[in-house]
Amino acid sequence: MMDTNLFKLSSRNSRKEDTVITLADNVSIGAKDRFTVIAGPCAVESEEQLFTVATAVKNIGVNILRAGAYKPRTSPYSFRGLGKEGLKILADVKIKINLKIITELLYIKNLQEVVEVADIIQIGSRNMQNYELLEEVGKLNKPVLLKRGFSNTIEEFLLSAEYIMLKGNRNIILCERGIRTFEKYTRNTLDISAIPLIKRLSHLPIIVDPSHAAGDRELVPSLSYAAIASGANGIMVEVHPNPQSALCDGTQSLTLNSFETMYNTIKRIAKVIDKVIN
Ligand code: PEP
Ligand code: MN
Repeated sequence: MMDTNLFKLSSRNSRKEDTVITLADNVSIGAKDRFTVIAGPCAVESEEQLFTVATAVKNIGVNILRAGAYKPRTSPYSFRGLGKEGLKILADVKIKINLKIITELLYIKNLQEVVEVADIIQIGSRNMQNYELLEEVGKLNKPVLLKRGFSNTIEEFLLSAEYIMLKGNRNIILCERGIRTFEKYTRNTLDISAIPLIKRLSHLPIIVDPSHAAGDRELVPSLSYAAIASGANGIMVEVHPNPQSALCDGTQSLTLNSFETMYNTIKRIAKVIDKVIN
């Protein structure tokens, strides 16, 4: 049974207007008439890689670049990110290409260095119920993107947002990134129903990550179109200049060309439903 009294700070009852996260003139997430496209590689791999993607997505129209310097990996033997070196590259790209940056905070010990570079702090799926971490970012005055845990219910998801809000930070963007089901042919199952449901329950913006949901770049455009049709406030999508050689999540990363094609289609869809993309 759904008890909306559980969500003291995130529910629609507590605040009638949609929360809008504004990063700059014309760069925001959550307004009814906008659909925000965040794009970039899974991980910062090198200066050349990040500058190439950043320049390309910026030219296409993107204002917010995603890329992880600290990567949560299932296997400890996989590439786990460049760490501080990656953050330095992100800081450089941010200034030179004039992009807002979203990057993951994996451990509390890295909070300060991540806060210095990030315009939005990403809390990954695996950390959705790391309450200590949630409370730490709750004390900040910086937007947080909270990804749904892959085995978590919508109720648990919103309660995790409450942990952040209760400490004072109300600038939260929720992200549906697919959940675990019995299906094996996709990496996760995109829970598209979560979008209209969360819109009904909460005033917080919610975006879709079609890349981790699908695990397969060919599915990403369809899931992105489903996201805009479902009422999501945006998408966050993985793009790589050469997915075959990516150190992380290459199979689900779009090429620069396929991203551009998809972006143009989203623009056309947005027009029909009276939204702009930013
Ligand atoms: C990511 O966005 O790169 C990521 C690690 O995603 P998730 O936490 O959803 O697995
Ligand atoms: Mn990834």
